[in-house]
Amino acid sequence: MIIPNMHYADLKESYLFYNIAQKTKAYVEAHPGTHLYRMGIGDVSLPLCDAVIQALHEAVEDQAEKERFHGYMPETGAPFLREAIAGYYGERGVSLSPDEVFVSSGASDELGDILDLFDRDSAALVIEPAYPAYVDANVMAGRKIVHLASGEENGFLPAPDDRLEADLLYICSPNNPTGAVFRREQLQAWVDYANKTGAVILFDAAYEAFIEEEGLPHSIFELEGAETCAIEICSLSKTAGFTGTRLGYTVIPKALVRGGMNLNEMWVRNRTTKTNGVSYIIQKGGAAVFTPEGQKQIHANIQVYKKNAACLMETLDALGIWYCGGKNAPYIWMKCPDGMTSWEFFDYLLHEIQVVGTPGEGFGACGEGYFRFSTFGSVEDTKEAARRLAKLLKK
Ligand code: PLP
Repeated sequence: MIIPNMHYADLKESYLFYNIAQKTKAYVEAHPGTHLYRMGIGDVSLPLCDAVIQALHEAVEDQAEKERFHGYMPETGAPFLREAIAGYYGERGVSLSPDEVFVSSGASDELGDILDLFDRDSAALVIEPAYPAYVDANVMAGRKIVHLASGEENGFLPAPDDRLEADLLYICSPNNPTGAVFRREQLQAWVDYANKTGAVILFDAAYEAFIEEEGLPHSIFELEGAETCAIEICSLSKTAGFTGTRLGYTVIPKALVRGGMNLNEMWVRNRTTKTNGVSYIIQKGGAAVFTPEGQKQIHANIQVYKKNAACLMETLDALGIWYCGGKNAPYIWMKCPDGMTSWEFFDYLLHEIQVVGTPGEGFGACGEGYFRFSTFGSVEDTKEAARRLAKLLKK
């Protein structure tokens, strides 16, 4: 009999979004016709921008003509898109060769697939509260997880510590769920630590486009020495509304070598074995994001989400509630009032004002007592949710 991967039995029940769905369903059944203000969603609400739609249409037309038709694309990405992404990094002073950029179907796919590059006996460090996929992908592979708790005392941005024993270091900045962003010197400490210990940083930059404060790093490769210790995984999902269209990219510098093996070459070998690339049409749509017009348009959409963030932040400021995020990230991470647990606060908001958010405890034990609001909802719903929140929590 075939033996399945028994590590799947070690996975904890993925109860967070299931529980939220169950509780909201029960509420709606008991209160038919009620409108819920959904501030928990991680999905975008605005459509793709015009530049992308136009490029997608043109690419569809190409597929209708014998001379312009494209079949299989290169497994590592179309040269036109790899060049466009390398150019985007270049504008920020990061010099990359296009063959250090790999086009993907999104960050989730890559966060799981990239683990193929590392020995199963290596240990993965996850800074918590964290995006749940980091832990689960490593549990599936049977890898040891080192949980590093963060909290208000360090602004949810912990520093490396020589006592940590880990080989793979997950860093997400701007962070989901806390919205916290590492400053240069804080991130440099992690880069120096990885170079000293031989660890590799998996840097999740899915929310880099939301950074508005000058001087904060958008990419780990803005830091000295990162090319010998880091892989960056990014996505157009939130940057440009590609959650349903699916496109991302991964940067693996050629200078990244461990155990005499070149990780960039290993990933070329992996991709050419395990994928047949991303579709021509989607890559054409993605390339439009990196044109001046595309950049202007995606930033106009991001500004809409920023206004949602500003509206919620104003409300929390007026209430005197501690929070982080919102300014440089599409998430706001607030402290639950009156010592409520995060699920108690969830129930309170659902029942009293029909607002749905995400309990912090679902992102790791140290998220208990905190609550996440997403700013990806509609402007009208966000305004009304903020108004209801202000009324409910006013002392
Ligand atoms: N990384 C983080 C931190 C995320 O929050 C998400 C999506 O919510 C992803 C990665 C996945 O992005 P994608 O849609 O590209 O798979």
